[in-house]
Amino acid sequence: MNHITLLPGNGIGPEIIEAVKKVLLSLDVKIKWEIFDADKIKYEENLNRFLDSCKNTTILLKGPLEVAKGGSYVYSDWSLHGKLERPKSYPTSTTLFRQVLECHYGVRIAKSYEGIPSRYKNIDLVIMRELSEDVYIASEYSMGDSAVALKVVSKKATKNLSNFCISFFKENKRKKITIAHKANVLKQTDGLFLSTAKDVFSQKTEIVFNDKMIDALCAELILDPEQFDMIVTSNQYGDILSDIVAAMAGGLGVSPGASYGEQVTIFEATHGAAPDIAGKNIANPTAILLSACLMLKKIGEKVKAEFCENAVASVLKDKKFLTPDLGGNASTTEYTNAIVEKINTL
Ligand code: NAD
Repeated sequence: MNHITLLPGNGIGPEIIEAVKKVLLSLDVKIKWEIFDADKIKYEENLNRFLDSCKNTTILLKGPLEVAKGGSYVYSDWSLHGKLERPKSYPTSTTLFRQVLECHYGVRIAKSYEGIPSRYKNIDLVIMRELSEDVYIASEYSMGDSAVALKVVSKKATKNLSNFCISFFKENKRKKITIAHKANVLKQTDGLFLSTAKDVFSQKTEIVFNDKMIDALCAELILDPEQFDMIVTSNQYGDILSDIVAAMAGGLGVSPGASYGEQVTIFEATHGAAPDIAGKNIANPTAILLSACLMLKKIGEKVKAEFCENAVASVLKDKKFLTPDLGGNASTTEYTNAIVEKINTL
């Protein structure tokens, strides 16, 4: 029996998580869920129980969390949650979970599936980004009439990411790694990221890698995406690249992801809580379903993960039950039922 922490989240979260549970049930994966309510973990005691559950199970399946305008979602006492100091500006809750649970290796996958309308046909890309450093951690200060954001890059974090990148490369039989940076201008920060990653990769003869300036890489990505396979980069570039490649492969609704750590892994879709369509039973659960496939691989259910991905691909290809974001008019339930039916007949 696998113990997994589950945070359905809010907005479309509960609807798409329900779809995942239904599909996993049809795959006969034995899971004991430890379920937490997004509204309740706003309170410290519940938040601590939730974080302890994640540490114990080591796996969190997370729906999206809507972040209240003008502030973050939780945290009256940041210092309770370990050695981190209370930040100057509060990150979103997803960012908090990644930091407290030390899930510092962000993976976003963009893959073309037949049936999904998109400008590109053969996208198969992994964006891997460091999650604990760089300007994205929002360490910002006002200084008179100016404002400053810190861009921190350390050798240790970059080395850890690069080593994780190698294991992901091998496990997933990827072909090539491209390091994305702007080291010609940011000689200290991006320079350190580049030299550290190159050092780690060059010690492994089986790793094929190159590097590219982030601006040139974006242009080449649009013109000829097939030359790329895995892109490893720092936090901010990775955040932007993730959305670009998701859009190239058919949109946020189909882009899965995970934040890996040495102990805990968080599996979640790239998209947010989509409040505009919440409660309408039209959300596309593909991204979270494919994230759940990554989760199945992590818990040793590789065959079922492939089975599930094949069923999703097959339903998409049929085009009979596409959700509105993909140009169809099927509900979340109809699309999910079609996948379950496919699993039962595959
Ligand atoms: P969003 O991803 O929620 O929505 C952007 C657009 O894409 C919307 O039109 C939405 O309807 C559509 N969309 C997203 N996912 C979809 C799906 N699965 N099926 C069909 N359509 C889908 O981004 P946003 O509007 O910028 O953010 C909404 C809220 O979500 C905000 O509060 C934001 O902070 C939060 N958010 C949370 C996460 C997270 O928890 N990881 C990530 C991003 C945004």
